[in-house]
Amino acid sequence: MDIKIKIEEISAKLLKYQYHYYVLADPIVSDNEYDRLFDQLLDIEKKYPELTQKNSPTKRVGSDLDNTFAEMEHSVSVLSLDKEYTGEGITKWVDKISAGSDMKAEYVVEEKLDGASIVLYYKKGILETALTRGDGVRGNVVTENVRTIGQIPLVLPEEIDIAVRGEIFIKKSEFERFNKKFENKYSNPRNLAAGSLRNLRSSIVAGVPLNMFAYEGYYKNGKGHVEILSDLKALNFPVNKNLALFSGDKNFLDQMKKELPGITTGSVDKIFDYIENHTKERDKLDYDIDGLVIKVNGIALREELGETSHHPRWAIAYKFDSPAAETILEDIAIQVGRNGRVSPVAILAPVQIAGSIVARATLHNQEYIDILELGIGDRVSISKRGDIIPAVERVIEKDEKDPSIYKIRSDCPFCGTEFVKDGAHHFCKNTECPERLRRSIVFFVAKGQMDIDTLGEKTIEFLLEKGFIKSIPDIYSFDQNKLLGEEGFKEKKIDNIKNSIEESKGNDFATVFTALGFEGIGKVAVSDLIKNGFDSFDKIREAAETGDIELFSDIPGFGDITARFLIEHFSDKDKLKLIDDLADAGLRMRAEERKNPEEEQVFAGDIWVITGSFENFNPRSIAAEEIEKRGGKVTNTVTSKTTHLLAGPGAGSKLDKAEKLKIKIINEKTFIKLLKP
Ligand SMILES: [Zn+2]
Repeated sequence: MDIKIKIEEISAKLLKYQYHYYVLADPIVSDNEYDRLFDQLLDIEKKYPELTQKNSPTKRVGSDLDNTFAEMEHSVSVLSLDKEYTGEGITKWVDKISAGSDMKAEYVVEEKLDGASIVLYYKKGILETALTRGDGVRGNVVTENVRTIGQIPLVLPEEIDIAVRGEIFIKKSEFERFNKKFENKYSNPRNLAAGSLRNLRSSIVAGVPLNMFAYEGYYKNGKGHVEILSDLKALNFPVNKNLALFSGDKNFLDQMKKELPGITTGSVDKIFDYIENHTKERDKLDYDIDGLVIKVNGIALREELGETSHHPRWAIAYKFDSPAAETILEDIAIQVGRNGRVSPVAILAPVQIAGSIVARATLHNQEYIDILELGIGDRVSISKRGDIIPAVERVIEKDEKDPSIYKIRSDCPFCGTEFVKDGAHHFCKNTECPERLRRSIVFFVAKGQMDIDTLGEKTIEFLLEKGFIKSIPDIYSFDQNKLLGEEGFKEKKIDNIKNSIEESKGNDFATVFTALGFEGIGKVAVSDLIKNGFDSFDKIREAAETGDIELFSDIPGFGDITARFLIEHFSDKDKLKLIDDLADAGLRMRAEERKNPEEEQVFAGDIWVITGSFENFNPRSIAAEEIEKRGGKVTNTVTSKTTHLLAGPGAGSKLDKAEKLKIKIINEKTFIKLLKP
């Protein structure tokens, strides 16, 4: 058979399977069959690279080549929306439009997703270019990354030229899990979505479960907005079904109900009831929305209304949260953390938000600053996320005198070492950096760690300055009596310090380990290590010395990143010496024996793997807990050491491998029986 035809045939099949899987969430083939075809296509493409199509379904997995994000001009209008913050404002807007024209006004209300805006350009039905919104005129080309998003069609069922605007987002339920993979560098789902779009490696983007809703289609068909949405759906684009149409034409409403199941319909006077009700429902959604968008449906009326240089006049955003406050970004301070990570902090002209004064907000990293296009002197909007953490949301007005974007300085302000860029962050890699040392000591003694409450930040700074301590172990060895006579140190205070230092030696192993503040090894990781048998520094050290990351990466919830961190830390001479010195000081170096007395240890010695889905154990970690409670171990990969595979519907390659290795396969029903005493 002609290779080219074969490629086209397989591609068409795979694209169809991807559409059913990602957009309709209703797969029509087994994972195995899909993988088989996918691998077959990969093989052919490897043999005949010249025949590889740029919209091949294999592009979904991305590439390891570094992306460059060239700039390109938009050929369609991608203005931002005018905003209203009150119901009255929206009612007025609707009334004004309805009264201002002879044309009948129909309205569509859509959810305003809090994600990253994208414009997709198709030529003859093939995805040519994906551009970020950018400044509305020019955007960045992020096509390679966008091709990895399974919900976005690479090839349309019709050979048409069309531009489609949509919002890329990540579900709330998946944010935490995937943010972990990026060392929790993103503060909310929106930033993870936007950051992923700008990720340098499309192969990494492919691993993030990004979603899209298409909400605007640019092509001339003489129809209204809601009909275009219906067309987009027919062209295999994901369209948000939380959508409402308000019109006086009952036949039209019935027609659209058929084309877009899930749509809410009503007469124009019902718009505000809908807005009010849907605002209440928003917390139930599995994605963040920051408002609703009200659009005029008719394209003819849209054209009559036109647009200002900033906003279309035919749409308005109803924002839930009033902009908490506006202020000026006066400066950006550079903080260096105990692990050397550099955090830029916004220094703001103090402003009141929800009853408290805000003068600082974290800016996370250079990437965050770039996404906001932020510079000193800019007028910015500040909010309190979750009513607690102040965040710079966006630039309202650039500083006219200096509109440049802030760049983090190249060297550490505390020790002069050149910063090194690693992932999204800059680092001071100098292990003797005085600021890093100060931070690690402050962290070590803080509440939640060793809890030495007599050593506050000021006291530690004093001890460091006067040379009483130069490292964490010095806390346990310096001569406290010599403090007598120093300003502010009386006998009573010195006694208190002595006592609280002594008391801290009673902290358990998990606390000591966490207090070391090793990057990537927080409370949860430490507790997982102990649960999985790594209950002493010696054991972890021994395992780390082998350099085998699988010893750690098999621990549920760990993954390669945490495993690599562990190996790195426990091969670092300075860190090993720190642990040895703390052992000499009398701190706990191993966990006490612990058993769960309530459950009989019926699974002691067993190594389980869990795969597929379950009725009673959703998420699967519930089953893992039951196994661990009874003394069993749970790992991610089937190996010859695995003793049991708990398999539910949808089990794939793990089941095949377990069968091959003749491992005991347990279904849900049997498993429940095993759990009963
Ligand atoms: Zn430094």
